[in-house]
Amino acid sequence: MIWQSVFKNIADVIYPPACLGCSEILHPEKEKYFCGACHEQIKYLNKRICPVCGMAFLDSPAGNHLCGHCLEQRPYFSIARAVAAYEKAILEAIRKFKYGRDLSVGSILASFMADFQFPDFDYRNYSLIVPVPLHIKKLRQRGFNQSVILAQALKKKWQIPLNYFLLKRTKSTLTQTGLHKKEREQNIKGAFAVTDTKAAEENNIILIDDVYTTGATVNECAKILRRAGVKEIAVLTLARVI
Ligand SMILES: [Zn+2]
Ligand SMILES: [Zn+2]
Repeated sequence: MIWQSVFKNIADVIYPPACLGCSEILHPEKEKYFCGACHEQIKYLNKRICPVCGMAFLDSPAGNHLCGHCLEQRPYFSIARAVAAYEKAILEAIRKFKYGRDLSVGSILASFMADFQFPDFDYRNYSLIVPVPLHIKKLRQRGFNQSVILAQALKKKWQIPLNYFLLKRTKSTLTQTGLHKKEREQNIKGAFAVTDTKAAEENNIILIDDVYTTGATVNECAKILRRAGVKEIAVLTLARVI
């Protein structure tokens, strides 16, 4: 342990930790993950949310209440929670990680996610972590699955097993970018399969993704997990479109 901290200190001098948003060097004692200016812009989603899907009512004077979508049709997952709104420093950081293929940013973002206290969520009610899978074509293109990197940090923090293979992406879909909620639902329909029904029946699952946009992808995953016998499904993401 002592040697680990010595190596960490040396590494911090050679590669001082930088802000995940703007890449400024961080103040070693005062700042973690983001510089002060970027941190101020982050909208954490820990209050005034929909108790089901985690939609945030940032400027609403009311407390937690069901959103219009959940009132109209309940999703297949029990709850969804995200750390922060998908904008500014958080959006920059995720872009660096995903599209800039910066895995060091990814692993720091994963710790950032694992440090967050998700509201009304108790990890002890769950027995398995499952990342949203990428289609093999996309995986080869990107070289990694961002959800797996996030899931690994949560596995370590909560000591809950991780299963990369329980869900399989069987269909390569068009990008969801630019599509509306209904189009996204249609596009993603039938894109996943459960590979192990016994594991599905025996576990309450935490599904991990990087960004929750309309919820179409995670809801499709939750739908087939439920059909395979999973009772409780929580969705955790790093960011959420508000
Ligand atoms: Zn910054
Ligand atoms: Zn909702």
